[in-house]
Amino acid sequence: MSQYVVLIGPPGGGKGTQAKRVSEAIGYPHISSGDLFRKNLRAETDLGKLAQGYLDRGELVPDDVTIAMVRDRLSEADCEAGAILDGFPRTTPQADALEKIAADLSAAVDPVILIEVPDGTLVERLSGRWMSKSGRVYHTIYNPPQVPGKDDEDGSDLYQREDDKPETVRNRIKVYEEQTAPLIAYYQQRKVLRPVDGDQGLDEVTHSILTVLEDES
Ligand code: AMP
Repeated sequence: MSQYVVLIGPPGGGKGTQAKRVSEAIGYPHISSGDLFRKNLRAETDLGKLAQGYLDRGELVPDDVTIAMVRDRLSEADCEAGAILDGFPRTTPQADALEKIAADLSAAVDPVILIEVPDGTLVERLSGRWMSKSGRVYHTIYNPPQVPGKDDEDGSDLYQREDDKPETVRNRIKVYEEQTAPLIAYYQQRKVLRPVDGDQGLDEVTHSILTVLEDES
C-alpha cells in the first residue's frame, strides 16, 4: 500500500516550501501541480500553452487536464512507496479523482495536512517570494538567499512568479476560498485531516508536519 500525503492550505501558506522539506525528510517525491504546469509552460508544450492563461490570471486550470497530468505523474515508478502532493487536489472533483487514482494504484490518501495561516499574512508572504529556475523558493524576510537575488546552490538569478503580483494574489486567495476550502470538510469527514499551525518559523512548521506523519505510522 503506498501513501499519498496531501498538503492543503491557502496560496502563500508555505505548502511548496514544506512539501520540499518533508519530501527530503521521508524520501517520497514532491509532486507540485503548479510546478508541473510551470515546467510545461517553459517547455512550451501543448499543455503549457493551454495552462498559461489560467496561471496568469490566478484561475484554476480545468479539472480534466489537471487530473490527467497528476495521474500520469503518480503512475511513475518513483511514486511506488508514496508521494507528497502539493497544490493537488484543489477542487472536490479533483479530490474524488484522487480517491479513484489511489484505488487504482493501491494507495491511501492519508494524512491530509492543512497548513493554517491567517489571511492577513498571505499577501505579504507572496509578495516577498522569489524562485530559482530549479524550483527552490526564497523569501526576502522569512527565507532569504545567502546572496541577494541568487540561488544558494547554483548561483543563478532568482525571479518572481508572474502570479505573485498583488492583484493576482488576491484572485488566487478568492479562488482558494471558493473552490479549495470545501476540501477541509471533505477530508474532515474522511477523518484524515490534520491541521498544522503554519504561522510559525519554517523549522517549526516542518517539525509539526513530521510529528503528524510519525504519529500516523
Ligand atoms: P501553485 O504553484 O500551486 O500556486 O499553482 C500555480 C497555478 O497553477 C494556480 O494558480 C493554477 O492556475 C494552477 N494550478 C496548480 N495546481 C492546480 C490544480 N490542482 N488545479 C487547477 N489549477 C492548478
